[in-house]
Amino acid sequence: MSGNSDQLQIIHGVCAHDCPDTCSWKAEVSNGQAVRLYGDPQHPFTRGVLCAKVSHYLERVYHPERLQVPLRRTGRKGAGQFEEISWDAALAEIANRWRKQIEEFGAETILPFSSAGNQGLIQHSSLDMRLFGLMGCSRLERNICGNVAHEGLCATQGCGTGINPEDLVHSRLIVLWGTNTLVTNSHLWPVIQESRRHGGRVIVVDPIRTRTASAADQHLAVRPGTDTVLMLAMMHIIIRDGLTDEDYIQRYSEGFAELSDHVRQYTPELAATVTGLSVEQIEAFAREYATVRPAVLRPLIGLEHHPNGAMMFRTLACLPVITGAWRYRGGGLARSTGAFQFSALNTAGLLKPETWQPDCRSLNMRDLGRILHLEADKGAVRSLLVYNSNPAVTMPNQNLVRRGLQREDLFTVVHDLFLTETARFADLVLPATSQLEHLDIVPSWGHHYLSLNRPAIAPCGQSVCNTELFRRLAAAMGRDETWLYESDEQLLRTALDSGHPMLEGITLESLLEHGYLHLNHAPDWMPFAAGGFATPSGRARLFASAGSESGAALPPVPGEIPVRPPGRLQLVTGKTLHFLNSSYSHQEPHRRRAGQLTVQMHEEDAAERELQHGDSVILQNEQGSVRAICSVSPHVQRGVISIPFGGLLDASGESVGVNILTPEWPTDWGGGSGFYACFVEVSAEK
Ligand code: SF4
Repeated sequence: MSGNSDQLQIIHGVCAHDCPDTCSWKAEVSNGQAVRLYGDPQHPFTRGVLCAKVSHYLERVYHPERLQVPLRRTGRKGAGQFEEISWDAALAEIANRWRKQIEEFGAETILPFSSAGNQGLIQHSSLDMRLFGLMGCSRLERNICGNVAHEGLCATQGCGTGINPEDLVHSRLIVLWGTNTLVTNSHLWPVIQESRRHGGRVIVVDPIRTRTASAADQHLAVRPGTDTVLMLAMMHIIIRDGLTDEDYIQRYSEGFAELSDHVRQYTPELAATVTGLSVEQIEAFAREYATVRPAVLRPLIGLEHHPNGAMMFRTLACLPVITGAWRYRGGGLARSTGAFQFSALNTAGLLKPETWQPDCRSLNMRDLGRILHLEADKGAVRSLLVYNSNPAVTMPNQNLVRRGLQREDLFTVVHDLFLTETARFADLVLPATSQLEHLDIVPSWGHHYLSLNRPAIAPCGQSVCNTELFRRLAAAMGRDETWLYESDEQLLRTALDSGHPMLEGITLESLLEHGYLHLNHAPDWMPFAAGGFATPSGRARLFASAGSESGAALPPVPGEIPVRPPGRLQLVTGKTLHFLNSSYSHQEPHRRRAGQLTVQMHEEDAAERELQHGDSVILQNEQGSVRAICSVSPHVQRGVISIPFGGLLDASGESVGVNILTPEWPTDWGGGSGFYACFVEVSAEK
């Protein structure tokens, strides 16, 4: 903290939204009020720029509809009718309900449900895991994002590590594979532009012509879900034309002979019929990728939402091995840096898994709709505690989730900043702090800086941060284990106390002094320049048979591509500039800025259905139906439609989410959700 007048203080913080960029910011505080928030211009990666959402963050902090006090439901579930109660009364009610429930049905009938609504280290996972682990509650598999990609990469590399994204400045070919960088990872774009200034080229592989695809040097509009076939055809061409790095393959990989045999069938002609690209495009792309040095593959979130998402990552990771792209600074593969950051932290000390009740059941968040409909003899969930999440919007099969939330026998508690769609179904709603009001460290999944978030202002109203909520719940449940009451500062010190060389010199004190610090590694660090993959043999696995040591089945062939039912269009979704998943969708003026829900459709698909630009349409399938405005667009290909996700307004002003339409289709591995296996009929609204 530094003061530049008697009253004005400047306090360093960092964004904890579900976004790879993890922007550093500064808050100006006067007389206890935050009066200005701006990006920290000194930060080498985020460079003083906050996105369209967070540049208005103070509107969120001081929004008139922000929750300030605990609430108890007075109307029917979903009606949004509540009365104010005290914290003591709320905690007593929770403890009473939970105690009775544990006695009668067991602790596993309590499900704590949380996701990435806050990505701060301790506000995301710390005392909650200790408390609920100790109580023996059901565990939640938080796999809807990230894990599928990680598992896929692990199948080839043994870990999810990639190059430092800042090293893309050295790349001369950057392949943005299924990622809309300009919208979802905008601080990487200046790095990419720097590479272009030095002759780098950018190719985007994406079924949708996104803003990033439009800004790239080339866009390859593959059919959704066919990416693996394109990757295998690239390998076919690279091997056929002798463009492999034989030395790298021989020293640092295994299974190349089997891979070569396998990709022989994936001719460019076959791949053209599957992917929708031309033979010429595929040939040129493969040769450019194999001959330009350094070449980097940059996937992020898109691919993993296909049912064969893990296989896509597993296959993608073979490409930089056979070309030896890892040898060059700026070459290889760059995905999330999250696991890399966490590998340096003392997460075991933070979460204390040794204190958890053994053998508790795990429930996959993807299946929340079904979980909320479990029969009594299958361990029906009777209490739900939701924090860092808005599952009534963000989970697939939204109508089923909402029907579950309507159950009168389900005791639901929601901790949030706003009366979200999920909170409207709650029995008790507890007010949560914003990022300006609590202490945390935020490990980034988009760069190698570890950042400290200092509270700039006191909690608004009676709001509390997650860690304080769990301390209060532990007390209400009568627990006397001292480690359930550790302060936020103690928790952060534990997490930093790992002895890992990448954290050498990174302490709470040094973070307080500097705000953020780069992980300790050499500036020219390259993870696999000389092999060193995290597999048992230390070699990249180019071909793996079922039943590998990871325990996961590793089929050496691409995952099955779901077949589109006749007459239906495939729905591919993406983020908007104005919302972050469902965050900000409860706030004016963000909601107004985002506008009405529109569906982008190819002109021939629209003509076939006698639809015109601006028509009101209904999208429907087995899961439900959504009203939207038709936007005939050159940005989507035939057979594909696109709508953004988040709680947008439909033509009648109702808040709707795309997950009304998405099924809980499991991914091949990794326990994720194949959101893109979503096929809908589109017709004019009568
Ligand atoms: S949401 Fe992302 S881009 Fe926006 S301020 Fe936060 S970290 Fe930066």
